[in-house]
Amino acid sequence: MRIDILTLLPELLESPLNYSILKRAKEKGLLEIYIHNIRDYARNKHKQADDYAFGGGAGMVMMIEPIDLCISKLTGERQYDEILYLTPDGERFTQRMANYLVTKKNILMLCGHYKGVDQRVRDHFITREVSIGDYVLSGGEIAALVITDCTGRLIPGVLSDETSALMDSFQDNLLAPPVYTRPANYKGWKVPDILLSGHQLQVDEWRHQQSLERTRKLRPDMLQEGSEKPEEE
Ligand code: SAM
Repeated sequence: MRIDILTLLPELLESPLNYSILKRAKEKGLLEIYIHNIRDYARNKHKQADDYAFGGGAGMVMMIEPIDLCISKLTGERQYDEILYLTPDGERFTQRMANYLVTKKNILMLCGHYKGVDQRVRDHFITREVSIGDYVLSGGEIAALVITDCTGRLIPGVLSDETSALMDSFQDNLLAPPVYTRPANYKGWKVPDILLSGHQLQVDEWRHQQSLERTRKLRPDMLQEGSEKPEEE
């Protein structure tokens, strides 16, 4: 899988992409991530990529031309399955959307800054607008990282145990069960006996019941009919 991220602040993306699971995914050749500095595509003398908003008001707007030049160069080199714009008024990012994105070969993500991008970018280049939640970040980079991390760990072969991601919250429309590790007894706080019993079928059943119970208590909305609709292409 290949992910291209377009940004005005490449430095913001560096560290999170170079540690832990994403680093491993890249080293294994399962995930390629390319960062593009939109400013490199600005043709004016000062490499300016933003300007005042028509109609006035506070805040700058990212200009269409550098974004057009960058996206057009990339789309001239390969076909992208999705060109995402990270924006608070977009469709909410979910595990289901990550399950969909991981089936794709090439994804491009555009990070906004300031008041966002010129609307014509959204109208003419973007295939999907995505939000990571109902709050406003100062830039799209953190949102792009959230999507890259969540999607990247689903690529087959990235996690050392393939089944691990399937057991995580949201995959079965359930929250994950509680987990424990050694010591079995810490200050008198004991691990449930069933987990030490060695009966795998009973352990699996216990975990499923715990997942159900947790979901009912914390996220009853997830158990409502229709909430498990698969992501549409
Ligand atoms: N004026 C915009 C609005 O009110 O919808 C907010 C602009 S925000 C300060 C700057 C950039 O951060 C956005 O263009 C977007 O790329 C990114 N951003 C902010 N909040 C986000 C969110 N919840 N999800 C995804 N991207 C977000």
